[in-house]
Amino acid sequence: MARAVPSDDKKTIPLHQQPVTTLKGVGEQLAVKLAKLNLFTLQDMLFHLPHRYEDRTRISPISALSAFATGVIEGEIQHTEIVPGRRRSLACQVTDGGGSIILRFYHFSTSQRGALAKGRRIRCFGEARPGALGLELYHPEYQLISGKNPAPLEKNLTPCYHTTDGLTQSRLRTLIEQVFQLFRASEYSLTDLLPGDRATPPLDRLHYLHFPPQNANLQQLLAGSHPYQQQLIREELTAYQLSLLRLRRQRQQQQAPALQPAPQLQATFTANLPFQLTGAQRRVCAEVAADMGRSIPMMRLLQGDVGSGKTIVAAISALQAVASDRQAALMAPTDILAEQHRLSFESWLTPLGVTVGWLSGKQKISERRRQLEAIKAGTAQVIIGTHALLQDEVIFNDLALVIIDEQHRFGVHQRLQLRNKGGDKVGQQPVTPHQLIMTATPIPRTLAMSAYADLDYSVIDELPSGRTPVTTVLINRNRRPQVVERIRHACLAGRQAYWVCTLIEQSETLSAEAAEDTMAHLQEQLPELRIALVHGRLKPAEKNAVMTEFKAGEIQLLVATTVIEVGVDVPNASLMIIENPERLGLAQLHQLRGRVGRGRAASHCVLLYGEPLSDSGKTRLQAMRKTNDGFKIAETDLQIRGPGEVLGTRQTGDIHFKLADLQRDMALLPQAKAMATEILTGDEAIARRLVDRWMGNSEEFAQV
Ligand code: ADP
Ligand code: MG
Repeated sequence: MARAVPSDDKKTIPLHQQPVTTLKGVGEQLAVKLAKLNLFTLQDMLFHLPHRYEDRTRISPISALSAFATGVIEGEIQHTEIVPGRRRSLACQVTDGGGSIILRFYHFSTSQRGALAKGRRIRCFGEARPGALGLELYHPEYQLISGKNPAPLEKNLTPCYHTTDGLTQSRLRTLIEQVFQLFRASEYSLTDLLPGDRATPPLDRLHYLHFPPQNANLQQLLAGSHPYQQQLIREELTAYQLSLLRLRRQRQQQQAPALQPAPQLQATFTANLPFQLTGAQRRVCAEVAADMGRSIPMMRLLQGDVGSGKTIVAAISALQAVASDRQAALMAPTDILAEQHRLSFESWLTPLGVTVGWLSGKQKISERRRQLEAIKAGTAQVIIGTHALLQDEVIFNDLALVIIDEQHRFGVHQRLQLRNKGGDKVGQQPVTPHQLIMTATPIPRTLAMSAYADLDYSVIDELPSGRTPVTTVLINRNRRPQVVERIRHACLAGRQAYWVCTLIEQSETLSAEAAEDTMAHLQEQLPELRIALVHGRLKPAEKNAVMTEFKAGEIQLLVATTVIEVGVDVPNASLMIIENPERLGLAQLHQLRGRVGRGRAASHCVLLYGEPLSDSGKTRLQAMRKTNDGFKIAETDLQIRGPGEVLGTRQTGDIHFKLADLQRDMALLPQAKAMATEILTGDEAIARRLVDRWMGNSEEFAQV
């Protein structure tokens, strides 16, 4: 993971690329800690910008402190006592004439207690929190003042950095100060990589952001809207776009098998379906087919709301590989979903003489061995599986197409790993399979275009006809008996229902137990119904058995944890109850609700919420009631929760911006993209330096 820093004579390495060990006091141990923060070079240190600031430049009157404000106060100790109780603490009252405040310590020593003696002057820095008897400072930093000359106050606002265990803020600060000294003392001049402010030298601007002067506009700095910050954000977003574009360009230099169109096979396939493809499905199939006809690897993101019929597109695309005598693999994130895809693909493809392979990690050893052989020999033509497909022992005969379902559940690495399975066999030419990445997480287009600038992008923007939209209602949990009646009614009328338990516990065991309780209660109240339970703790075989029975209509009410969130498809189920929906994000609720409304019957989703609801909880649930449109829901989600949630792993797991924030800085994205395109064609040196400065340590980009 660590970037190799050239080990030649240091003098030949430009200052900004010199390793952190150049700094005084940084040895191997500290370098390891810095590496955890992705800080390898002096440039990395310069651009490790504070995420907030503290004002230790002036003493605040105690009476002027408000709750949750931080500040420096100075005063005289009135008294100090140990307060017994559930959590014993040391409380020390300090007065400055105008007001008084309590310093509270839960960890303290006897000598500390002795030192905080009545009458002594003390200076503290901390955050004021409301306590039982007024404001308190918990574990403030403090300094007893002796004589007439206390230590001077800070001259600048104090930066707070992201740091790691064993590396204190003040240590990091001193190191960064040292970096500035080195830069100032050398001939090296830091340059701007984009046009912008030329009045202040770049090093001075950076220094300002690390150590803003006392009179700096703190609000503006915290909001990221200071012009110096804006300029860097533009650089960072441009660098991000550049790295994506470069990724794309590199991929385009790789070889993929050009697959001939397969009109006959595909026509037979669609003729066997009980429905016609939607216009959107046909359009997307054509886009994919054209991509796969080229010898450049396809990398296409397919978005389609839940129920829009992405699986058919996957199957049709797979047939193009089959027609060229090559293999296609489909990877799904859960056992339930993979199993369901296997059943669908078998029923669709077996009649066409196509063999479907299957790998699930938990299958029996003998079965697994048989499947592995078929995959290697090429007798398995379309292979369905979970991430079991990624294991080293899985060797494809001739993998030409990789399809990933519900991509937000996978990390970028897993995606790349499957891609690397083309040309696995000894003696084979290395080829890169085509990739189709499917997702039901609707990402607003502007964001998608920027965050996934390395991918092509197709949308199924049309639901199959004959669907009746799901009606969503909000019902308070205290009206649960009415909801139970509604289930009885629906199921006795021949329909099926889901009851989804959402739990606060992260533990699968606890959620499973709670779901078992719910199931027992419901069975008591609905003795005439056949009820079953699925949760994450069941063995795959048990899970599959339940799902198969539910699909066959033998089970009327399925009690489930959120394991059924993705992809499960039972058209006769037309009622869904979601208990405590306020615990889930909108995208997840929308996914869940997508399990109903798949058939012709009018479908209902009951959000059985608990009181009290927070304001954002209310807004979220109302958004669910108002619209069935996944894109509108995603826009709302974006406003309420930010792009990390909406984009899934891409943002939260893979890219760590130093300064930019996709949500806050979204308006800058189109400009950054245009700039990146211009630089990529115009100035390779600047492109390299931008990516090196801002993305240099990001694994995803280092790997390609
Ligand atoms: P998703 O996009 O959520 O993965 P699926 O592929 O599971 O959706 O499709 C949902 C349901 O719609 C399935 O039962 C599928 O057979 C059905 N379906 C797909 N395409 C059509 C169509 N063109 N007309 C009618 N039903 C369709
Ligand atoms: Mg699906």
